[in-house]
Amino acid sequence: MKCMKRIALESEWKEEDHPRDSDGIFVEKPALDAPSEMKSFRNEIFADYDEYYRGRINAKKKELDVTEKNIKEKDEKWLLNRKKRLEREIKEYEDSLDLMNKSKEFYDNPELIDIKYGTSTHKEGHQGFKSGITKNKAPFDFFPAPDKYTGHRGLTITPKNSGGKGMIPLSEYDEKMKGVTIIKNSVGKNAPDGVKDSVNRVMSVWNMLSDEDRDGVDVLKINYGSEKINKKHSVGGWKIRETLDLRDIGERDIMIQEPSHISVLLNEESDTEYDAIHTMVHEVTHRRYERMKKDKPDVVKKFHERVISLGRDGAPTAYAESKWDDLETVKSDNSDGSEQALKNIAMAEESISNEYHSEFISGLTTPWGIGWYSKPRMEKMNNINTILKETLYG
Ligand SMILES: [Zn+2]
Repeated sequence: MKCMKRIALESEWKEEDHPRDSDGIFVEKPALDAPSEMKSFRNEIFADYDEYYRGRINAKKKELDVTEKNIKEKDEKWLLNRKKRLEREIKEYEDSLDLMNKSKEFYDNPELIDIKYGTSTHKEGHQGFKSGITKNKAPFDFFPAPDKYTGHRGLTITPKNSGGKGMIPLSEYDEKMKGVTIIKNSVGKNAPDGVKDSVNRVMSVWNMLSDEDRDGVDVLKINYGSEKINKKHSVGGWKIRETLDLRDIGERDIMIQEPSHISVLLNEESDTEYDAIHTMVHEVTHRRYERMKKDKPDVVKKFHERVISLGRDGAPTAYAESKWDDLETVKSDNSDGSEQALKNIAMAEESISNEYHSEFISGLTTPWGIGWYSKPRMEKMNNINTILKETLYG
């Protein structure tokens, strides 16, 4: 319930209460009245993107000026090459800015829903990430969980410096980790500039969220590697928290937990800063959906049913459409009618509506190439928009 209050249609947010001075002229709103709870996610992202590209263009132009002056003094080949490179880079940044402004036109439709993020009071922590700490600073130790118990990777959460022994009740974990997210960023100082820029864009999105959104994420992981490696692992992910208390099976007095996490995987060959924003928004939207399921299960159910009735043809992207193929696979692998089989099928079906939601929000929050806004796609987007307005964001 709480989170739903924070979300509103853009058209509902009017400046009617804008204070006026005695002459009836609009004045600056006092800081306390500032609509900090109603920041438009889309506008924030576009403003951040705009600032980033303008900053880049200015810096490159300054460099170009210096290079041109040097060329006047000594006409050397390496200087001419540098001039060419700078001109090319400036053009690329200008094109990106232009693309953003063009794609922005598609969002100027007041009928389109926008996400508003709520109160954000977390302080900037590790590497500038709000609420971020390193694993070493966490008040617990984390050891890999024995696979024989869980069948999948997990972590044992143990008291600090206990050598992996002892158990932490989940309530204690939550109490001490409230307002804290472990940042695991594998992008180091020696990474290419483009990859470091992508990390900054991911951080911008993270820092725009409300406290409530960040609180639900135990770990934020950012990795990068070659396209070949990352293709295997997709481009990002959202994982809910899972716990397993091994006392149930009479084993060691220990609790195994797989922390909830958002992961963003950057491909060093092909990813742009914009791809990183898109992935991040997509995953953050999964987190939001998870919260809505808890807060408003009936409304989420309604949304789910209506998305399913749109069918495969209503998918906003090829990725969202691929979830229908996954459903077919799960159905053929789970044909025995058992309780578990039905559960697996329901989960696969649910991931369809979950992905339609994430693809819609990330598609309408980050700039795409103009080809993306084809008429058939925009019709699909509008259909989902209508359903969202009548359910999750109504
Ligand atoms: Zn997804």
